[in-house]
Amino acid sequence: MNLVLLGAPGSGKGTQAEKLSQKLNLFYLQTGELSREWAKTDKRIRNIINGGKLIPEKEMTNYVMKYLEKRVPKGTNILFEGFPRFISQYEEYEKWLASKRQKIDAVVSLDISEKEAVKRLSGRRICEKCGEVYNVITNPPKESGKCDKCKGKLIQRDDDRPEAIKVRFRYYRNNTKKLIDYLDNKEKLIRVDAVRPINVIYLEILEKLGVKNG
Ligand code: AMP
Repeated sequence: MNLVLLGAPGSGKGTQAEKLSQKLNLFYLQTGELSREWAKTDKRIRNIINGGKLIPEKEMTNYVMKYLEKRVPKGTNILFEGFPRFISQYEEYEKWLASKRQKIDAVVSLDISEKEAVKRLSGRRICEKCGEVYNVITNPPKESGKCDKCKGKLIQRDDDRPEAIKVRFRYYRNNTKKLIDYLDNKEKLIRVDAVRPINVIYLEILEKLGVKNG
C-alpha cells in the first residue's frame, strides 16, 4: 500500500506517519526532513525553510523524484508525509508510481483548525541531539528543557516561531488546501479529525484503511 498523509502544519502528521509506517511496513519519507538535510549544504534552501516558505514546487518535485529513483529500493511501498503539497506534485508522484506499475492507494487528511494548529506548533520543542518531539503543553519532558531519552537540549525549530508559522499557513491555504479540495472532489480522500488523542486518530485511520489492528 502506498499512502500519503496530508494536513496543516501542526496537525500531527509526523506522529501518525511514524506509527503507520511501522505498522504497515512502509518506507517512511518525510520531505521536511529531506529538506532540512538539503538545507545544511544550501543557504538558499535554509533561508526558505527558516522563513516558513515552501521550496519552489518543481524544484522540490525533481529533488524527490531523484531521491525515489536513487534511494528507495524497487517495489517498496511508501508512506509520504509533507509531499505532495501541490496538485502538480501529486500528479508527478502518480506518474512516477504508474511507471513502476504502482499507484497511490490512499490519501489521509488530518483535519485541524488553524487556531488549534498554531497553539500546538508554538509549544513544540525538539531534542537537538536525537530529534525526539515534545510539546510544552500537551507532552512536556519530565525535566524542563531536557530530552527524557538522551538528556539533549530541547530547542524550538526556527519555522515554529510565530512569524514563520503565519507564512507556513499562508502557503498551506494557497497550495495544500487546494490539493485537499481537489482530492476531496474526486472522492479520493480519507478525512480524519486530528484534534483527538493520538491513539484514537491512529485507530480510526487503520479502520478507514481497512487494516485490522491485531
Ligand atoms: P515540514 O516539516 O513538512 O513542515 O517541512 C519543512 C519545510 O520543508 C517546508 O516549510 C518547506 O520549506 C520544505 N518542504 C517540505 N516538503 C515540501 C514540498 N512538498 N514542497 C515544497 N517544500 C517542501
